[in-house]
Amino acid sequence: MDRKIQLTQQIRIQPTPEQEQVLWDLSEKCRLVYNFALNKRKETFKEENKSVSYIDQQNQLPRIKSEYPEYKWVYSKVLQYTLRTLDADFKSFFQLWKNGWKEARPPKYKGKRFFTTMTYNQSGFKHQKGTIQLSHKHPGNTPLQFTIPEKYQFDKIYQVSIYRKDKQFYLSITYEQPVPEYHDNGLYQAFDLGVMKHTAVNSHGKTQEFKIQRPDKYWEKHFKALQQRRDHCKKNSRRYKYLDACLRRCKRKSSDQTKDHLHKLSRKIIDNTRANTLVVGDLSVKQMVKKNKHQKGLHTSLHNTGIIGRFIGLLTYKAKLCGKRVRAISEQDTSKTCCACGHKKDRMPLYQRTYHCKICGNTVDRDVNSSINIMLRFLSTNALWTRYQQFVDNLRQTGMEYAERPTSIYSKEAPSSTVQPVAL
Ligand SMILES: [Zn+2]
Repeated sequence: MDRKIQLTQQIRIQPTPEQEQVLWDLSEKCRLVYNFALNKRKETFKEENKSVSYIDQQNQLPRIKSEYPEYKWVYSKVLQYTLRTLDADFKSFFQLWKNGWKEARPPKYKGKRFFTTMTYNQSGFKHQKGTIQLSHKHPGNTPLQFTIPEKYQFDKIYQVSIYRKDKQFYLSITYEQPVPEYHDNGLYQAFDLGVMKHTAVNSHGKTQEFKIQRPDKYWEKHFKALQQRRDHCKKNSRRYKYLDACLRRCKRKSSDQTKDHLHKLSRKIIDNTRANTLVVGDLSVKQMVKKNKHQKGLHTSLHNTGIIGRFIGLLTYKAKLCGKRVRAISEQDTSKTCCACGHKKDRMPLYQRTYHCKICGNTVDRDVNSSINIMLRFLSTNALWTRYQQFVDNLRQTGMEYAERPTSIYSKEAPSSTVQPVAL
């Protein structure tokens, strides 16, 4: 296994007015190349009904450069990367279209005041003594050198991008970070992830709840009010622009608060658990949404935020950094199945907050039930039978009525009509 991971760090920079001018000039060239290549792709598709490959477009670059020498200002790999971005944009569009996403639209032309993100992939930048320098051949000869704050230490940098967001310039630095080796210390923690709260159970049978703050819920009404006021104004009038800026500021604040909370929550979980393996339900949100089309509430809340997927992402990389692992396993039927006897209900509506089993009389909180099921499934799919037995024993000590556990579930003699295997 590799003991290094790639991380990306965003750093805000303050270019001098001269540097800013250079950046705009370079970005303008990239923008034109992007638009030109996009146009070419669209035309070829219209006339000959075939798509242009990235290699074809890349091979055009030298010709463009000899005809229009200004394009030589930009570091050549940056231009190539711009074409690569276009290629990726097209590929993701085709993929979405193929998957039946009919609202997908092909990439658009970049507008005049658009700052095109410039990416220096593997070369073209110099990193030393807390500064980073990006190469270019702009006639002004202004060096694009930016300081990196001391708290960020990078051993090996893979890629540097420079982009503009909310009228500020940022560097996005992808670097390599060594991580300690993972080893299984016999302790596990399983999570049932939700939109309102996460429920965890560890190998000792102890359950824990993590409430999720939802700043977006608070901001929602502000968004609506602002939007309404904005839409009553004449488009692009002074007032419209003002309200639009307000709206965007609120949205940014909301998403920043959510992000901040998720970072802190995942950090807290990773730091406070002794378990080296965290188990989460493998949540393919899209699949889930498709399945429960009639449940409108879940649909919108999941789509609006992507909160769970993002949380898993944060948890995964934070775990890796301290030698832990996050394992995802299927969470199908985990909320319908009884964690004590393995009986599977037909349905378990969302409003039912406690799970009551008719077969064994087990009554337990809905989320606790599914987190235990996730843990049981993880242990059994990985054939960790001793751990499995220990976990069940621990659960019994916490006062849960674990009647005839677990052999009856996994033996083939069990009547298959009432007792469903938890896993496999
Ligand atoms: Zn039961």
